[in-house]
Amino acid sequence: IKPPTKENIVMIPFMAQGHIIPFLALALRIEKTNKYTITFVNTPSNIKNLRSSLPSNSSIHLLEIPFNSSDHELPPHTENTDSVPYDLVPKLFEASLSFKPHFRNLISKLFQDENEHKRPLCIISSMFFGWCAEIAHEFGLFHAIFVAGGGFGFACYYSLWLNLPHSNSDSDEFELPDFPEASTLHVTQMSDTLRAADGSDSFSVFVKKVFPLWVKADAILVNTVEEFDKTGLNYFRRKIGRPVWPVGPVLFSSGNKARAGKEFGLSQEICKNWLDKKPSCSVLYVSFGSQNTISSSQMMQLAMALEACGKNFIWVVRPPIGFDINSEFKANEWLPEGFEERIRDSGRGLVVHTWAPQVEILSHESLSAFLSHCGWNSVLESLSRGVPMIGWPMAAEQFYNVKLLEEKIGVCVEVARGKNCEIFHEEIVAKIELVMNESEKGKEMRKKAWEIKEIINNATKDEENFKGSSMEAMDQFLNAASKLRGEDKGEIDG
Ligand code: UDP
Repeated sequence: IKPPTKENIVMIPFMAQGHIIPFLALALRIEKTNKYTITFVNTPSNIKNLRSSLPSNSSIHLLEIPFNSSDHELPPHTENTDSVPYDLVPKLFEASLSFKPHFRNLISKLFQDENEHKRPLCIISSMFFGWCAEIAHEFGLFHAIFVAGGGFGFACYYSLWLNLPHSNSDSDEFELPDFPEASTLHVTQMSDTLRAADGSDSFSVFVKKVFPLWVKADAILVNTVEEFDKTGLNYFRRKIGRPVWPVGPVLFSSGNKARAGKEFGLSQEICKNWLDKKPSCSVLYVSFGSQNTISSSQMMQLAMALEACGKNFIWVVRPPIGFDINSEFKANEWLPEGFEERIRDSGRGLVVHTWAPQVEILSHESLSAFLSHCGWNSVLESLSRGVPMIGWPMAAEQFYNVKLLEEKIGVCVEVARGKNCEIFHEEIVAKIELVMNESEKGKEMRKKAWEIKEIINNATKDEENFKGSSMEAMDQFLNAASKLRGEDKGEIDG
């Protein structure tokens, strides 16, 4: 007897670790249902890197879309925000617009494929690839956008970029015209790019092309949880008028393999052995995600703070702003003299260069707090382990993630804002102590973080007599996609 044919879902994330990682996690979650096969599309070097990250039992089909970075005024072989020089990142966004005809070609070829397992049912695209809707609908496919950010943070970001300019405001505080529930924002909660944007710069032009296309999608999936992120989700429900399904958190930990193809600066085993020797709830983890770094003076103050606070810590370091992010780390220039030797000899700190096994570190019971740029994946990885945060937002929607976490949820305190702000080590020490010591505030934050961890556990439960909100949302999405393939292409409930 011929086994029932599985439907194929095509996924195409933007070329950044903060997008590829949750897309991969979503792919694995869908694959686990045993009802679908996955075709995962990206540029050649991202696909090459991903080959080493997939679990051995996964049958995800990796597919390259033609792309040559040199054709887009980018350095050769830079195809991910973690390797493109920071000021050239807008070019990578612009370059992604060249994918459309190639992607159409790929979909068309999947239809011609003899192997029925590859014929698509649905396309899940990056939030920056709204143009996929047109291709999906040409082939009669369902199209969902997967937002790799959170509801609240991304709603603020979406609103700010579609309501330019912000440079002529005469007050430092302002409200978003179409999102008053977000309450007041401060000008310092905008990245330099956003504050300078007047609608004619390249990123504004790009955003104006892709964000309005969201209304053409059949659904929006968000990597978040309804119970603590309703305000932002409701903004999109109102604004886009499509079903908005929170399916998160979808998290990806690749076991002992490199994560998203990146080699760890220190192996998972070394980090684990080091953490095993520390008392429970005693370690601070410091990392600013996959593509951000701080200024050299901020780095110096942070190092001084980590020494002065007397806490155990793991710090992921990479060259400061102004230097090639992938170049060699010059400890004798960028850190206080003898810093690395002193912290190594005292056994109190571990410095990891460029890339650490973050999920495994955050999952260890010796973890107490996370000093983070509050990129959304880092936020979800921390909250799903009940670890409170010290926020240092730097770019994009990170400022609004911190606002949600600090003002509305109570699991975070902000220590600094942006990559150019002046910060003194005493201020950093004060925030570390506030969160890690047995202060009222610290206790309250840990309690809240545990409550959120419980909420996340429930949202992702899939038991015989109980289905959490995120699993329910996932079912609604998959049912809607199948329904479109069947006879009914009418309205979709959501
Ligand atoms: N990450 C990691 N090791 C590192 C730095 C980052 O594994 O040393 C992962 C992290 O766990 C997260 C992703 O990279 O899954 C970063 O995404 P996030 O949204 O937090 O920030 P972004 O890099 O997009 O600014």
